[in-house]
Amino acid sequence: MFVKNRDYKIHFGEKYNKLLVLSLGEIRKRRKYFLCKCDCGRIVEIRIDHVLSGNSKCCGCSRNERKIIHGDSMSNKHARLYRIWNGILQRCTNPNNPSFNRYGGRGVGVCEQWKNYVAFKKWALESNYRDYLTIDRIDNDSGYSPNNCRWITRRENTMRAHRGIKHSKGEFNGKRFEHVDRNRAIGS
Ligand SMILES: [Zn+2]
Repeated sequence: MFVKNRDYKIHFGEKYNKLLVLSLGEIRKRRKYFLCKCDCGRIVEIRIDHVLSGNSKCCGCSRNERKIIHGDSMSNKHARLYRIWNGILQRCTNPNNPSFNRYGGRGVGVCEQWKNYVAFKKWALESNYRDYLTIDRIDNDSGYSPNNCRWITRRENTMRAHRGIKHSKGEFNGKRFEHVDRNRAIGS
């Protein structure tokens, strides 16, 4: 897939200096931003004309880059949100993901709308997302969608998670046993 306009043509998955272009980001003040992954692992939204011109060669991790990129790096504050989104997508759609069994494998999916990061981000910001909150599925057997998700604190999430765990304690042949069936991951 590529995006084209008068001034440029860009392919997703292409690399410019240290920046790998992942997907279309937001449009701010009529400027197009793209989601890029830097060699250092950080995910940032960067103005595409800066990426193409070489004005932005990395996420800002190299010292001599910092000055140039500063104006755009405010988008770094959303790197956590991107990680959350990517985590959801991986758990629900990638059979090689270690958590797939507990999500995609048992029918917990992602709605079509949220397969697009920008749509997810829009929902998150309109739903009072904060960096200290975690995403919660209201109905643990339903998937990730605007109707079934909300942002709650880690503490609330842990409490909910414990409620979802089947706990059995008892004695068998004179030995005490405790069985925990953890069908719900904390922080999910
Ligand atoms: Zn970097």
